Amino acid sequence: MSQGPEGYDAGPYVPEGAGLRALRDAAAGCQGCPLYREATQTVFGAGDTSARMLLVGEQPGDQEDRQGRPFVGPAGGVLDRALGEAGIDPEGTYVTNAVKHFKFEPARRGKRRIHKAPDLKEIRACKPWLAEERAAMHAGLVADLKVAARLLG
Ligand code: SF4
Repeated sequence: MSQGPEGYDAGPYVPEGAGLRALRDAAAGCQGCPLYREATQTVFGAGDTSARMLLVGEQPGDQEDRQGRPFVGPAGGVLDRALGEAGIDPEGTYVTNAVKHFKFEPARRGKRRIHKAPDLKEIRACKPWLAEERAAMHAGLVADLKVAARLLG
């Protein structure tokens, strides 16, 4: 089953049938693709684990990578405003990302890190984590925020 480190598959790192806490702990050690190398830490999902609404972004950003929580940077502010306008309490949602490590490239000048979109291989590699989050939560509604942003934008 195991493809070993960097085999572009998180599957070997995912404990079967685990709850969200065990999944989060296991994801901290994931080396299912090369993105773990440069990122600060795995950014697993967070929020109300009994929520009926699971919101899925693309990947953590700079602030999320530093703080280890999803949607705490500028995207989180946008999301909170959008939820507020829709009459949805952010506290009653669970948020996560399709890819759990921050992908970036260094700015040509200074120390800024520039977001790079994950490629399909990385999204596929990370998919087992999202699949287990969904299975552990029993959320009734799964919203792809990237798709939603395209629709709204
Ligand atoms: S991005 Fe996903 S598959 Fe790649 S190392 Fe991080 S948690 Fe594992």
